[in-house]
Amino acid sequence: MPDDKSNSWEARAAAHTLYGFTDLPTVAARGTVVLTGGHGPYVTDVHGRDYLDANSGLWNMVAGFDPPGLIAAAQEAYGRFPGYHAFFGRMSDRTVELSEKLIAVSPFADGRVFYTNSGSEANDTLVKMLWFLNAQEGRPERRKILTRVNGYHGVTVVSASMTGKPYNSVFGLPLPGFVHLTCPHYWREGKEGESEAAFTARMAAELEEVIAREGAETIAAFVAEPVMGAGGVIPPSEGYFEAVLPILRKHGIAVISDEVICGLGRTGRAWGCETYGFVPDAIISSKALTAGLFPMGAVILGPELADRLHRASEAVEEFPHGFTASGHPVGCAIALKAIETILEGADGAPPLIDGVHRLTPGFEAGLARLAEHPHIGEWRGKGLMGALEAVQDKATKTPFPGHLSVSERIANACTDAGLICRPLGQAVVLCPPFILTEAQMDEMFGKLERALETVFAEVA
Ligand SMILES: *Cc1c(COP(=O)(O)O)cnc(C)c1O
Repeated sequence: MPDDKSNSWEARAAAHTLYGFTDLPTVAARGTVVLTGGHGPYVTDVHGRDYLDANSGLWNMVAGFDPPGLIAAAQEAYGRFPGYHAFFGRMSDRTVELSEKLIAVSPFADGRVFYTNSGSEANDTLVKMLWFLNAQEGRPERRKILTRVNGYHGVTVVSASMTGKPYNSVFGLPLPGFVHLTCPHYWREGKEGESEAAFTARMAAELEEVIAREGAETIAAFVAEPVMGAGGVIPPSEGYFEAVLPILRKHGIAVISDEVICGLGRTGRAWGCETYGFVPDAIISSKALTAGLFPMGAVILGPELADRLHRASEAVEEFPHGFTASGHPVGCAIALKAIETILEGADGAPPLIDGVHRLTPGFEAGLARLAEHPHIGEWRGKGLMGALEAVQDKATKTPFPGHLSVSERIANACTDAGLICRPLGQAVVLCPPFILTEAQMDEMFGKLERALETVFAEVA
């Protein structure tokens, strides 16, 4: 068949597939990038062109795009037991092993794990668990969920309500009872002359006020990413968790760490809560949990919530919730191998988290160097997640007008140069796979720098 335009992969992609989170003018002008596979940190398109994927797919492909040990584990698992569920008192042996492993690598001395197919479903599940157990324990009014503006927790109805992004208003969300606190981003939210310590104290005071206004007895949980990811890579202000956690504890509000991005090494420790020195009541995991090779999420309950949920479930004879593919044996086998590969080292290789430690100083130095540009307002990040925020005026932190789509243009210029990075608001986000070499990191920053120069020359 002749490869005319109407029969191109780009046209076929546009004809019958709906896009998620896609800038449609960009696609209309440039076409879809249709990919066939990858090698190391690179993905390859239908024309044979390679792109260095500085976003690890969607934060998840931390072992790159052809990890031999993980692929072998998946193949072996499919040959052995290609599918099963975790309902009605049955589950696969791999599911049993993965739960033991997750508790062993968690900050919890004991606990229980519930499996989903995604991070969104894991957050929905967590909220249903809290609603269920509070009701069973005679506190049915304890249902509200506190999150932060710019926090990202997913797209299902409840997890979108938790997400603190204005775009959810197109769905008439959030639902009632989902309360968003100020984003603890000192550079953007700090007031003129306010020190970072004073800013953090103001965040804590706001939390106290919100709890007083809403009523502590109506609030089930505070759910937070240790470092906000999809909100634009926003680490908390200095001392933030130390300031807010005692307030939440005092009011009996459960503390949930959404580790879907931070989890399994991204910030330099197994979990972002370890990087920030706190132990939550539960952890939400997904993305790197299977190094991106299988759709899976997990709610990891610490001992107290696990016991309470167990007791509440016994009282009604079951916890009426679960997904058909929860605890899938192939997904669990891949996750076991991913955890081993990332945290312990598999097949004689050092753990991938060593790569995070090795790369972080150069990654931070590269971001800091690009942030010297007069149109970069700040660089921020933790471990191997970072962002550069474009501004029209550095001194006043004034953003570029939205209609210029500066971050989309930067990302498009990067794509033209064979580099995938993500525009988020006015920021450009980098979160490369943990297997990156120093030479590939130089390639990443070199291509990004040229893209920044091109776009700033056009818009400034
Ligand atoms: C991606 C993400 C989610 C949602 O996960 P999906 O698998 O896309 O549903 C939830 N929380 C955080 C922090 C995320 O980054």
